[in-house]
Amino acid sequence: MKIYSSLLFSLLLIVVLHSNVFSQQKTISELSSLKELNLTSSGVHHFWLNMGTNTFGQPILVPIIVVQGNEVGPTLGITAAIHGNELNGIPIIHQLAAALDANRLKGRVIAIPGINTLSIELNQRKFVDDEDVNRSFPGKSNGSESEQYAHKIKERILPVFDVHLDLHTASFGRVNTLYARADASNDTILKLAELQQPDIILHSKGKPSFGTTSSATETLRAEAAALGIPSITVEYGNPQVFQKDMINRGVNGILNTLIWLNMYDGNISTDPIKPVYCKKSYWIYTDKGGFLEVPVKLNQLIKKGDPIGIIKNAFGEIIDTYLAPEDGIVIGKSTNPANRSGGRIIHLGILE
Ligand SMILES: [Zn+2]
Repeated sequence: MKIYSSLLFSLLLIVVLHSNVFSQQKTISELSSLKELNLTSSGVHHFWLNMGTNTFGQPILVPIIVVQGNEVGPTLGITAAIHGNELNGIPIIHQLAAALDANRLKGRVIAIPGINTLSIELNQRKFVDDEDVNRSFPGKSNGSESEQYAHKIKERILPVFDVHLDLHTASFGRVNTLYARADASNDTILKLAELQQPDIILHSKGKPSFGTTSSATETLRAEAAALGIPSITVEYGNPQVFQKDMINRGVNGILNTLIWLNMYDGNISTDPIKPVYCKKSYWIYTDKGGFLEVPVKLNQLIKKGDPIGIIKNAFGEIIDTYLAPEDGIVIGKSTNPANRSGGRIIHLGILE
């Protein structure tokens, strides 16, 4: 009798759990553009945004989380994983949505935890046509797969944002500090970068200049800037992993942003780490193949002439040592020892 009742209980539990999942899926409505959003009730709302169709005629859907406040106010837009292997931004959005009290919010947060769903599925940085969507803006309505996808982001997503944060990480074979790429010549954009309390703020104008329309924007951040939307790119650590520290710092930075925008009450957190400001940066590459060791740490301040890369041949003999060409800070570095001519060593930031 006891066995039967526990069996019955398990069966009931399975039915309840299944119906819960099923009903959750059923209640999520599909949008063809974020311009259709017209929410009146405050709270957290989920949607799917249609971004085209696949081979089987099924819609390509992108998840949308809207935290709708009680009072009118601006829209903070957050996009994560336009490069499909850069995942830390996804749990940042999930945790932010869980942490926010919609009744205290003025305006709304529209967050996209995985804007490049097709590439996330494939564990790859680039789009399904092997192009980089984040180098394909403004895209074309009748262009290639990646061009059409970029164009849909431009037409269906960006216009509803007043301020934009684009969440990235390093790519395969490399690791990153928590750093922001921002046009430091624009006070609002620089402030957005500082609010994330990153290790490094890298001045990078992006093209074109803020508020200037252009046919060669290339990145999502530049496309937003061309539309007059203050936008920064934030790089949170490493590819294809969820890193707790990066995620916590990410959530904290976005909360700071909401408070600064007067969308949320509270105090901007004080960060013991002062960011290092860099006026430019570049990657240093090897000129020969071999096994590469990179004897510097992330965020390490290095001097001209410091060793940054040691290459050994197939027999374990050192064949070259690379030296820092000038003083700077290590923004990112290679973690992949297998190295051909032209492999990356470090991403060097040059301080202001
Ligand atoms: Zn990226």
